[in-house]
Amino acid sequence: MARKSNTLAPETLAAQALRHIDPASGSVVPPMVAASTFARDENYDLREGYIYARYGSPTTAHAEEIIATLEGADESLLLNSGMSASVAVVEALPPNAHVVAQSMMYHVGLHWLDRQARRGVIRKDLFPAGDLDALEAALIPGETKLVWIETPANGDWSITDIAAAAELAHRAGAVLMVDSTAAPPCTTKPLDLGADISFHSATKYMGGHSDFTAGVLSARKDMPLWADIREVRSFQGTILPAFESWLLIRSLRSLHIRYEACSRNAMAFAQHFAAHQVIEAVLYPGLPDHPGHDVAARQMKNGFGGMMSIRVKGSDSRAFEMAKQTKVFIPATSLGGVESLIEHRRTVAGEDSGIPANLLRISIGIENIDDLIADFEQALAATA
Ligand code: PLP
Repeated sequence: MARKSNTLAPETLAAQALRHIDPASGSVVPPMVAASTFARDENYDLREGYIYARYGSPTTAHAEEIIATLEGADESLLLNSGMSASVAVVEALPPNAHVVAQSMMYHVGLHWLDRQARRGVIRKDLFPAGDLDALEAALIPGETKLVWIETPANGDWSITDIAAAAELAHRAGAVLMVDSTAAPPCTTKPLDLGADISFHSATKYMGGHSDFTAGVLSARKDMPLWADIREVRSFQGTILPAFESWLLIRSLRSLHIRYEACSRNAMAFAQHFAAHQVIEAVLYPGLPDHPGHDVAARQMKNGFGGMMSIRVKGSDSRAFEMAKQTKVFIPATSLGGVESLIEHRRTVAGEDSGIPANLLRISIGIENIDDLIADFEQALAATA
């Protein structure tokens, strides 16, 4: 059966793993090919282009093809974590390239840029997330090679206008990479909005079950850094292995429905606590009073996702204490899984992260919404 059809919606294709039926067995689940090396045919030719798993292998390629279909990309590259993916992009830049990124985004990405700048590999400037004037001011035309934005962004879930950022980056001669981890392609397609690279920690919504780490980059074929990024992945040996790729295929089949459920739960949760007396602020792009709401409504076409932060009133230690009191929310970092997580973000991201002490980062899953609301209520009551 054909692997691909252009007439079906991306979620139909994803749900059926690109309509793959295993020709040998009829299995509706794609097989996992776990080989590290691939035999040549009688003419010493490669059979399907595979030579050695560090360069590429069938199960990983299948998962990449599903993601490229969802993203509207020509190609996707899977790596063994989100960090490996962003490291590969920075490694692919020319020496001494100028990089512009947000002052608040995933903190380990910022630490990586710091390290590379300290070692003289890159130059970097930061701008406050969502502030397009500050982005424009940070660009050095002809010298800035990469603009790295994250939207919605870790911390306060601030929103950056992808189309406007793409225009500014391109005017300066730079490539725009969008970390769209919190907004998977069932809601935002950065390439359609003008971005050059769509980047995800596929550990999160794409994987969705908190059982492996993965990262993915998607682009159009003419993207100038693409060949170098692929080469870096081969040198570093950071391609996503077969088993994790197979799990990812399993997960991508239900991405749109999981994301929809998380978004629905999160909206109800945000609305409930936004009106609560002991809550200082609910930072959720789906709420009309979030500063990025209008842009989010434009570029998150199918729900605002499950990520939010809640700032609680009371003593400095109250939020920290609350993270220890929940019985349904699991006190763990990460996001985008079917289970709801809560974390005292400053403890995880560090004192220098700019995250307020009274902020709880919450990843809403697919559980019963009444259980989630009741759990947060009881944690508030327990720390009153
Ligand atoms: N980008 C965002 C927005 C993240 O939240 C994370 C991890 O939490 C990463 C990138 C890094 O991904 P990974 O943990 O898969 O390396």
